[in-house]
Amino acid sequence: MRQNIVAGNWKMNNTLEEGVALAKEVNEILKANKPNCQVVLGAPFIHLTEVVKTVDAELVGVAAQNCADKVSGAYTGEVSASMVKSTGAQYVILGHSERRAYYGETNAILKEKTDLTLANGLTPIFCIGEVLEERESGKHFEVVKEQIEEALFHLSAEEFGKVVLAYEPVWAIGTGKTASPEQAQEIHAFIRQTLANKYGAEVANETSILYGGSCKPSNAKELFANPDVDGGLIGGASLKAEDFHGIIAAF
Ligand code: 13P
Repeated sequence: MRQNIVAGNWKMNNTLEEGVALAKEVNEILKANKPNCQVVLGAPFIHLTEVVKTVDAELVGVAAQNCADKVSGAYTGEVSASMVKSTGAQYVILGHSERRAYYGETNAILKEKTDLTLANGLTPIFCIGEVLEERESGKHFEVVKEQIEEALFHLSAEEFGKVVLAYEPVWAIGTGKTASPEQAQEIHAFIRQTLANKYGAEVANETSILYGGSCKPSNAKELFANPDVDGGLIGGASLKAEDFHGIIAAF
């Protein structure tokens, strides 16, 4: 059966020292309380090597929050998927709405990033989700379908089997406003059906689909209780080990 995953996305927070301290704290808590799901920490690039060294690999996976859409070369300031791989990280968060909105990441660019992530043996945690206006005009199904089709549907079934999806309604990110468990289940089921139509029921049933957007210890249980919600991608609440653990403990 598909894996339940709770992944933290630290975004642009914490110095190296603070990031390592947080990773250590999360790892210690999980050593004492074995998690019933895969736990992942999404750290800034410069933290990756140290965070990998700090955590126990069997307890905590490590993710970059982005990678370049090019293999290597004269791309000042960029970090490639192979460079991420060389830190020991296992995952790359791709297509976060903040990258789409502030750094011009299109589905076409994300297609390249996905290919490079997979080619380097890393697992993409691929983010999709609609903005408030699209939700209010009933376009959210169409929007997430297009994001998936344009960035991911060139993949073979075998390749797609390595992808983790994260549904993050933009209106719920950092706003304190969460999708209701019913809203989350409705669109997660739609996403899974979209995958089934393309790749068949088996691949669709094996794909982990995470929910992200103001997920916290107080609402994680009811969100994760839905049959098509396989965990969470956590922003703000992943910056405090205790809160993050409160969400992990929902499984
Ligand atoms: P918050 O949990 O802070 O709403 O952020 C969600 C998110 O963007 C995770 O990628």
